[in-house]
Amino acid sequence: MKTEILTQYRTKIENDYRKKTKLSKAAFKEAQLYVAGGVTRETCYWKPYPVFVERGEGCRIYDLDGNEYVDYNNAFTSSLLGHTPPQVVEAIRESATKLLGAGAATQSIHQFAKLFCDRYSSVDKMRFCCSGTEAVMYACRAARAHTGKEKIVKHIGSYHGGTPEQEVAVIASTRGLTSNSGIDVIATNVYDRQAMKALFEKHQTELAGLLLNGVWFLKGDDTLMFLRDLCTRYGVPMIMDEVMSFRLAMGGAQEYFGVEADISCFGKYIGGAGLAVGAFGGREEIMTGFDYTTQSEPIHQAGTFAANPVTVAAGIASLKTLTPKYFTRLNNLGNRLKAGFNKAFNEIGIKGYVMGEGSLSLMGFGELEMVSDPRRANVPEGQAEVARLLQLAMTVKGNYVAGSGTLWTTTGPMTDADIDKTVSDLHKCLAEAKPVIAEAAHNLIGE
Ligand code: PMP
Repeated sequence: MKTEILTQYRTKIENDYRKKTKLSKAAFKEAQLYVAGGVTRETCYWKPYPVFVERGEGCRIYDLDGNEYVDYNNAFTSSLLGHTPPQVVEAIRESATKLLGAGAATQSIHQFAKLFCDRYSSVDKMRFCCSGTEAVMYACRAARAHTGKEKIVKHIGSYHGGTPEQEVAVIASTRGLTSNSGIDVIATNVYDRQAMKALFEKHQTELAGLLLNGVWFLKGDDTLMFLRDLCTRYGVPMIMDEVMSFRLAMGGAQEYFGVEADISCFGKYIGGAGLAVGAFGGREEIMTGFDYTTQSEPIHQAGTFAANPVTVAAGIASLKTLTPKYFTRLNNLGNRLKAGFNKAFNEIGIKGYVMGEGSLSLMGFGELEMVSDPRRANVPEGQAEVARLLQLAMTVKGNYVAGSGTLWTTTGPMTDADIDKTVSDLHKCLAEAKPVIAEAAHNLIGE
């Protein structure tokens, strides 16, 4: 019985999906001939095959079959101005016709840097690179150079990018890594204050930095202040990874939560809706390590495409658009989505969580564990399959999210009506899935 109802539901949802996405299916078959796995990153893939997207405009994307989706993935959250924002496209066009690439100093780089220094009181000087991964990598290097120490403490399960060191305690697969990968990283539960105090005390002679992801903190919780005090007391630089949390306010998570880091890392949004970008900055005494005009042995930073003129032009246009009013709008839309999703779970009587801050909404079944060690990930099979099919059902109704389907982000071009339609879609999808959930994942049925 249990498998029968799940099989029926799977057949229905997958058939609906296949009927709408025939050209994507054909494209996936062809892609598999040339691209390992058919797509170039895991989260762009889902069963039975992903939709192939052809163009985007405002908050919508269109696939090969001409289907329209309200995009809640937004180039992995980076397009918070929506797709092809005209002012950014114009900046790109203008820059591309003047200077497409430059192995030289350009004035636009310090104009870009100034925009960060003006927004973040903790940032005196900036450097640019090509991804959030690189930004965090260089920030850790700066912290190590500044302190002369080696160990970086981070929250277990918190994502900071794709180098072997950054993947410690995040990615379950260790295939291809050496046994020494991440040897200088201590991954722990930063919410456990007693343990954090003991850790700082025990390792004080070795600690180069505390690396935190700005989106993991809940408003009203003073954990962040506690960690700030700990870092100050032990002279350990606090590295705030703002790659994701930049979108919360003009001064990112630091302004939003009222805390100042020593080094900040940026990516995603700062490149103007989809271009490859990364940046990091911080206090004068730390960033001076990169200054070859004063240092006998400056910290090395390279990168062929770092601060590429086109990316910088797009970044400047984006940051100028991102005013306090714009952030308020993004966050209001996100709060509307969260409230709507919560209401849908409650009304249908299914246990789910909707968390996150402002324009970032994390949604899923059951409860989200704040300590999410992938090696302990233990989602029951039936629940995982229902979650997959629910996401597919939402896609069929015209709502696009990434592979795992948990992170929903709002963008400037969205309207209240777009959000309300998505909420109503979730309501319908949950109602349809309820009998299946009752059989295949009955622990998720509310009282
Ligand atoms: N840090 C955080 C908090 C992120 O969310 C990400 C990307 N999702 C990164 C770093 C890595 O950025 P990128 O994908 O640009 O390398």
